[in-house]
Amino acid sequence: MGSLESEKTVTGYAARDSSGHLSPYTYTLRNKGPEDVIVRVIYCGICHSDLVQMHNEMGMSNYPMVPGHEVVGVVTEIGSEVKKFKVGEHVGVGCIVGSCRSCSNCNGSMEQYCSKRIWTYNDMNHDGTPTQGGFASSMVVDQMFVVRIPENLPLEQAAPLLCAGVTVYSPMKHFGMTEPGKKCGILGLGGVGHMGVKIAKAFGLHVTVISSSDKKKEEALEVLGADAYLVSKDAEKMQEAAESLDYIMDTIPVAHPLEPYLALLKTNGKLVMLGVVPEPLHFVTPLLILGRRSIAGSFIGSMEETQETLDFCAEKKVSSMIEVVGLDYINTAMERLVKNDVRYRFVVDVARSNLDK
Ligand code: NAP
Ligand code: ZN
Ligand code: ZN
Repeated sequence: MGSLESEKTVTGYAARDSSGHLSPYTYTLRNKGPEDVIVRVIYCGICHSDLVQMHNEMGMSNYPMVPGHEVVGVVTEIGSEVKKFKVGEHVGVGCIVGSCRSCSNCNGSMEQYCSKRIWTYNDMNHDGTPTQGGFASSMVVDQMFVVRIPENLPLEQAAPLLCAGVTVYSPMKHFGMTEPGKKCGILGLGGVGHMGVKIAKAFGLHVTVISSSDKKKEEALEVLGADAYLVSKDAEKMQEAAESLDYIMDTIPVAHPLEPYLALLKTNGKLVMLGVVPEPLHFVTPLLILGRRSIAGSFIGSMEETQETLDFCAEKKVSSMIEVVGLDYINTAMERLVKNDVRYRFVVDVARSNLDK
């Protein structure tokens, strides 16, 4: 249902192949429909999942690909049926921009689990055009997949909440991990992990960071507000912490043994897998059985939960810890992310690059 208006040409930064190198790419936006808003991008966060897609780690990548799914921007145009947003409002777009709207997931406000979900990039719009993400001047998005940025949230701070933030907020709500005083482990202190610390603390939990090194220890305890810090290689300290945690949110993006972390859980404890690991993981079952522990997974959150995450963070004054960079730095930022060299999320200042000029 495109309108009669002329097509809009925009510029983004695209990967052309699995090397993942990003360079300027000009393409046409799909026509704005009655339910669509056009968003001029201001900031866009860099998520580890962007690396997975750009480098075709899941074997499903299509090029040219403009990544970016932590998008904060301003509404510049609205379709005739758009009631939710006005021109000039600050809005956010996350990992998905469409779903079937009729399956049990969609009807149950879990559209992120709809088998016909449309990914923000590396997917196809209903009209057959490719979806392209937020490292671009503008996007056209159905209003259902757009959220409002609360006024007291700085825009660059809001970007990581649209994927990293909701990715921890949603399982915390779903698995009942919000009871103050409960003990939560955050495994892997990256973009998702640091939001895990912040949001878990805002719910009143006792938070232990479990990291591959002690490099982030001081910052985790003194700046992010974690209560304890474990280095996973320190067998003695890991042993001392056995059976001490109620939950662990696992954000490690590569294959890793699960036993050391299952052993940290109390009886009935839950290990919630959030990292995208394209290889099989192994574990022996006694650690699950002798403690009625469970391993679960969780994918981002619904649109309702995404709005809730933003509102919760605005109300509780939860901020992300970011490094703002220009688009001219994006390939270096990606390389640094591969090397675990970011505290804790890169946010690209897309507007500053004047892409369409
Ligand atoms: P990130 O910023 O790169 O953080 C990952 C953290 O894992 C690193 O900071 C590091 O923490 C640890 N790590 C990295 N390489 C490791 C290795 N070789 N061995 C052990 N630990 C390692 O990534 P992110 O953006 O937070 O994303 C984390 C994972 O979640 C990725 O797989 C991403 O694709 C996925 N993800 C999933 C969802 C979802 O909906 N489920 C949403 C967003 C992202 P330490 O330095 O503390 O060890
Ligand atoms: Zn993401
Ligand atoms: Zn559906």
